[in-house]
Amino acid sequence: MPKAITVAIVGSGPAGFYTAEALLRLGRPVEIDIIERLPTPYGLIRGGVAPDHEKTKNVTRKYEEIALDPSVRYFGNVEVGRDVSVAELSDLYDAVVLAVGTPFDRRLGIPGEDKKGVHGAAAFVGWYNAHPDFHALVPDLNVRAAVVIGVGNVAIDIARLLVKTPAEMVSSDLPDYAARVIQGSPLTDVYMVGRRGPNDAKFTNVELREMGELENCAPVVDGVQLPQTVEDEPSERDRRLKAKNLATLWEFARRGREKKPKRVHFLFYAFPVEIFGGACVEGVRFERTKVEGGRSVGTGEYFSIPCGLVLPSIGYRGIALAGVPFDDVAGIAISNEGRVAPGLYAVGWIRRGPSGVIATNRPDGVKVAGHIAADFAEGAKPGRTQLAGLLSSRRVRTVTFADWKKIEAVEIGAAPPGAQRRKLASIEQLLAAID
Ligand SMILES: Cc1cc2nc3c(=O)[nH]c(=O)nc-3n(C[C@H](O)[C@H](O)[C@H](O)COP(=O)(O)OP(=O)(O)OC[C@H]3O[C@@H](n4cnc5c(N)ncnc54)[C@H](O)[C@@H]3O)c2cc1C
Repeated sequence: MPKAITVAIVGSGPAGFYTAEALLRLGRPVEIDIIERLPTPYGLIRGGVAPDHEKTKNVTRKYEEIALDPSVRYFGNVEVGRDVSVAELSDLYDAVVLAVGTPFDRRLGIPGEDKKGVHGAAAFVGWYNAHPDFHALVPDLNVRAAVVIGVGNVAIDIARLLVKTPAEMVSSDLPDYAARVIQGSPLTDVYMVGRRGPNDAKFTNVELREMGELENCAPVVDGVQLPQTVEDEPSERDRRLKAKNLATLWEFARRGREKKPKRVHFLFYAFPVEIFGGACVEGVRFERTKVEGGRSVGTGEYFSIPCGLVLPSIGYRGIALAGVPFDDVAGIAISNEGRVAPGLYAVGWIRRGPSGVIATNRPDGVKVAGHIAADFAEGAKPGRTQLAGLLSSRRVRTVTFADWKKIEAVEIGAAPPGAQRRKLASIEQLLAAID
């Protein structure tokens, strides 16, 4: 019997779990340790996916089966780079797979970006999703208008969360502290602004259509900004998806003004040049754009949107872990189809960048599991027992999967009627739930 290949997967988001799944399916002896910096597993499924899209999170049931496989062990509350280094993991494991995602906001790089009232999507979404890094953000939503910069699904999630009624959020896992702030806000208008045209918007049609079905909020689109057809799209599949979005936007535009107290405005062909105000945001100045040769270029025409809240949602980036080659422009690890260095691999957003849906991460896991199978006939390094010893010598409090289930039981027990859970937000609360 060959010795088990020892694999450390760093990060317990979709990419980490799909890699573990693919390794288990190799049919070879493997010992897989999933190392996660938070006490809680599942990455952006818990900390990113919108609180009112409960069904999307059901995929975690599958991940739980993987975590409970006898070959898999979960080491929560262990941060690679702080508690243990990549180099140390490489000494202890045959293979180390980075599945750490890209958790930081890309910056706009314009004046006024650091004013009070500007929150990047990673921080704002993390706040309303009870992410321990952001639960203490306390954004000031005592504003009438907000500008969301970006026209992707994250931007649309943010806009929707800001305008939904309490009744529409009943079954969500929105934490009470965020519900109080959002639902107590006098906000009436959210502006979503994209630098290119409607056919370049990245939102998917289900999410877009949802904006037309909200109880208290009407979508506002100016038909002048909408083309009649989708052109210059070589992929038949993408052309169909874009045509659906365009049809939905036209349907919104034809509705005219609806009598609802809140509005989400879709604006295209504009990029922000300045966030203005005193210490706090008072508005955003935009330059109108046109698309030339596939690129958006400024027209020299400007306009402003007064607002007290700006939520840039223009993408994410990762950070370099010591010893990992990193592309600082793209904000991702440098790899060749997932191979970073001998015995070191990358999957998911830290490999490809922040795009695609949950399932897009599965092929990454399959590919890297294939690399590992090709690179190792059998295992040679000790893996988990030595990691456990190292962490305990450093007094790191590791959270096991059984501990996570205790946390989950407390969260489920605290759920109000109709909701699945009430998340605990701080590391202290999460660890206390285990005790
Ligand atoms: C706001 C938002 C909403 C989304 N909504 C949807 C949706 O509705 N449907 C859909 O299909 N897709 C959605 N996506 C996309 C989906 O979430 C991603 O495709 C997927 O989560 C990427 O997986 P990942 O494993 O690469 O990264 P992540 O999910 O980010 O997981 C990375 C994990 O690594 C951990 N980690 C990071 N650094 C370290 C470290 N140093 N040591 C140990 N652990 C570490 C993190 O804590 C995290 O748990 C959404 C994305 C965002 C940002």
